[in-house]
Amino acid sequence: MKVLGIESTAHTFSVGVVDGKKILSNVIDSFTTKKGGIKPYDVAEHHTKVCHEVLEKALKEAKLSMKDIDLIAFSQGPGLGHTLRIGAFFARSLALRFKKKIVGVNHCIAHLSIGELTGAKDPVLLYASGVNTQVIAYEGGKYRIFGETLDMGVGNFLDSVGRLMDLGFPGGPKLEKLALKGKKFIEMPYVVKGMDVSFGGLYSFVKNKLGKFRKEDLAYSIQETIFAMLLEVAERAMAHTGKKELLLGGGVACNSRFQEMAQKMCAERKAKCFIPEKKLLIDNGAMIGYQGLLEYKAGKRQKISDTKIKPYWRTDEVKVNWK
Ligand code: AMP
Ligand code: MG
Repeated sequence: MKVLGIESTAHTFSVGVVDGKKILSNVIDSFTTKKGGIKPYDVAEHHTKVCHEVLEKALKEAKLSMKDIDLIAFSQGPGLGHTLRIGAFFARSLALRFKKKIVGVNHCIAHLSIGELTGAKDPVLLYASGVNTQVIAYEGGKYRIFGETLDMGVGNFLDSVGRLMDLGFPGGPKLEKLALKGKKFIEMPYVVKGMDVSFGGLYSFVKNKLGKFRKEDLAYSIQETIFAMLLEVAERAMAHTGKKELLLGGGVACNSRFQEMAQKMCAERKAKCFIPEKKLLIDNGAMIGYQGLLEYKAGKRQKISDTKIKPYWRTDEVKVNWK
């Protein structure tokens, strides 16, 4: 069964094609800036501009045309209303024009399912992306959120710091480079409450310290602090659920230092650490296609009128029919 997956929850527009467990293509086009952050309106414009080209590339790479596609899946939420709407509109238009079935899927759970495709069987997902920061695991018939950020997502935090330092968007990868040249650890607010984390205080701290320390030392200390916070809550969720696998997901998980710390934590508790390849860690259409396939095969059907976007869709509200 060949599924076309469309992703548009935030700064990335992507179309991927999967055929069962095989990924035939996964074309990703992300909005970036040299200076300043992201404005939802500008990102929506970006997605509108690139959507047809991305679709064409994805079909070409998969060596298929629209007539070969059996199902269209799209990210129905959670995410930015402005950008979700572009993906949903595009998916509906294609479904109507080419008379295809359509299903909307939950973006966060798609990160988990694609991770399971890379070998994890029953993991705790540490999902560290721009908007979302959650610790998710399957228990009692549902994907449950064991911990999450109480304010901003870890990626948004890094991007905001990047903006303070005039690094452009996205700030995360640029801070990673700066951090490599960091020498001195600066003590910073470390905010973990049970299985939740918070970055607001840390952001104010960094804002106040700008100019007083080397940017490299700040970047290094920020990384050490936030990754330790994230891994502490993930480890607590692993201990609580008794699960022996950690899966990383989200753009922040592309960070080498984060990956290294995650592997170390897992080795210490004799757990396995799964890190999908970069194109599957970041927002991508292939994971949406794969999630759509799982749900469709398990019997999910949607009419066009059921495809309204859900910007605030919670992971634990999703009906799990495919497990
Ligand atoms: P996503 O929303 O999952 O596509 O992830 C996007 C977020 O990942 C942005 O906030 C980026 O700054 C962040 N990001 C991407 N690469 C890295 C990296 N190497 N280190 C830290 N953060 C990163
Ligand atoms: Mg994501």
